[in-house]
Amino acid sequence: MQTHQYDVVIVGAGGAGMRAALEASKEARTAVISKLYPTRSHTGAAQGGMAAALANVEDDNWEWHTFDTVKGGDYLVDQDAAEILAKEAIDSVLDLERMGLPFNRTPEGRIDQRRFGGHTRDHGQAAVRRACYAADRTGHMILQTLYQNCVKQDVEFFNEFYVLDLLTDHDLTTEELEDGAEVNATGVVAYDLASGEIHVFQAKAIIFATGGAGKIFKTTSNAHTLTGDGMALAYRRGLPLEDMEFFQFHPTGLAGLGILLSEAARGEGGILRNSDGERFMERYAPTIKDLAPRDIVARSMANEVREGRGAGPNKDYVLLDLTHLEPAHIDAKLPDITEFARTYLGIEPYTEPVPVFPTAHYAMGGVPTNVSGEVLRDGHNVVKGLYAAGEVACVSVHGSNRLGTNSLLDINVFGKRSGRSAAAYAKTVAQHLDLPENPAARVEAQLAEMRDRPDGDRVADVRKALQETMDANAQVFRTADSLNQALSDIRELQQRYRNVSVQDKGKLFNTDLLEAIELGFLLDIAEVTVVAALNRKESRGGHYREDFPNRDDANYMLHTMAYRRPTAAPDVAEGHVEGYFDHVESFDDYKVVLGSKTVTQTRYEPMERKY
Ligand SMILES: Cc1cc2nc3c(=O)[nH]c(=O)nc-3n(C[C@H](O)[C@H](O)[C@H](O)COP(=O)(O)OP(=O)(O)OC[C@H]3O[C@@H](n4cnc5c(N)ncnc54)[C@H](O)[C@@H]3O)c2cc1C
Repeated sequence: MQTHQYDVVIVGAGGAGMRAALEASKEARTAVISKLYPTRSHTGAAQGGMAAALANVEDDNWEWHTFDTVKGGDYLVDQDAAEILAKEAIDSVLDLERMGLPFNRTPEGRIDQRRFGGHTRDHGQAAVRRACYAADRTGHMILQTLYQNCVKQDVEFFNEFYVLDLLTDHDLTTEELEDGAEVNATGVVAYDLASGEIHVFQAKAIIFATGGAGKIFKTTSNAHTLTGDGMALAYRRGLPLEDMEFFQFHPTGLAGLGILLSEAARGEGGILRNSDGERFMERYAPTIKDLAPRDIVARSMANEVREGRGAGPNKDYVLLDLTHLEPAHIDAKLPDITEFARTYLGIEPYTEPVPVFPTAHYAMGGVPTNVSGEVLRDGHNVVKGLYAAGEVACVSVHGSNRLGTNSLLDINVFGKRSGRSAAAYAKTVAQHLDLPENPAARVEAQLAEMRDRPDGDRVADVRKALQETMDANAQVFRTADSLNQALSDIRELQQRYRNVSVQDKGKLFNTDLLEAIELGFLLDIAEVTVVAALNRKESRGGHYREDFPNRDDANYMLHTMAYRRPTAAPDVAEGHVEGYFDHVESFDDYKVVLGSKTVTQTRYEPMERKY
């Protein structure tokens, strides 16, 4: 076992982690730990753009952007955070430009902007061009730009190191703490893929930037590695997860595959059609049609298929029509995604419409933080020295449905903020806090147990069964019956997980072993998602309950906070527990306890959401 000491340790080298590293490393000794080589992080797959009210091509301002974000999130957004997101967007784009990011330009040489779902002028009057972009490879350009700047700034990286535990000075899973009691994060434990060795990192401040958890679903735009590690690690240490029932299904995944075709296709004029050739979004969102927010478009598509107007031999998808656009325009603005249609479906988008269907895309929920990136341990107390940013976190700027292009923005704005706050905090701590006596004991035991287990169930089989039940029962449409089915399947898979075995028993590059560990994270995240979804008996944003089709502000205008607790612990979660979120699912050896957190409202009163 090796040990390291840093002021700030950042877990994750995607956009959020590297944006944080650029800030923190200016002020404090900083290390970035990443299970992937940094430029392989999922941020690099982002396509369409990053929102900022630059008003380079049309009248726009940050207040309209704030309003759109709040309305897009079906009013579950914390409005103070959304205001920061929209205001600081402008500097975030300019920061990237100064770092060398090659944005597309207007003929006058300004950063060009394109339309995206839910971004409007004057509070919903018409679509506005707000997304800054680099063709349909915006995320690739952001990730490369941030990485190059980190290298220039001599940021230290530990690549292909998997963080498998978070160390704190109190065990929140068992200890009951008073309101205001101090809890500190002290370090993380990581596994080096190449050598199989354990490394303990002691830190004054830790930032989780581990990205999303899309692999709980089968049909997803997310990379194989998006297994919710940071969320699961925090949850296992007794920290809450916020709003996990809200998962975004992106309307335009390639049918049957889930590979993403960016909303930029519709931003550039693409139209969705059913089997009759009808532009059906005119019926569902008469004002902004195909550019309505994702939850509405995804549900409308699924509804067309249900009502028999799906296209194709099995009538199970709809069509994204780009055939009226000039091939030169398609090549300039959408080169990658049109190539995906050719490669994976054999479709020529110049002349044929592309088969599409919703695909699991983005976790709106995650580890709760305040606007400085500090992680909360209940409705209001923070864990000292622990921060989170990016898709792993829930600030919450996306509420129950994220607008397209607001995530590349989120990782930049809150990556920067958490990097700054972590470094500033580290400076106030004179000495590193003591680590537990055997800091790597939990991880070592877990790995040994998994490696030494004789023949058992295969990881791939359990993962497939999990993803299938999530697709079948917790997707665009949900009911109590479907969610209960998902929960009982997950419980059964949790039992099977205790028996999974790995074939590779070696030390070097044992990806087999790590995929088994990642499957454990996926099971935990899926369980919390379904428990929270069962408990929210209303429809809002990405969470649609057919048995409760309306939004219910009287009872559910609250964030969900989910805690893992021992069976013997009290049934009531710490912090704000009110009304309908006072809910418990008990299993053999632990239970999921739900509490709530108030939604911060500043200037926008909740209204009916129409587009
Ligand atoms: C196909 C696709 C297209 C998208 N297009 C857009 C778009 O156009 N605009 C937009 O705003 N958003 C878009 N999004 C969403 C957006 O790209 C992501 O939400 C965002 O990039 C997430 O960034 P992140 O830094 O939080 O995480 P990631 O970029 O996913 O990085 C996570 C990092 O954490 C590390 N990590 C994870 N677990 C561990 C562990 N256990 N130990 C060590 N390291 C770990 C990984 O190595 C990785 O470096 C898109 C997403 C997808 C999937």
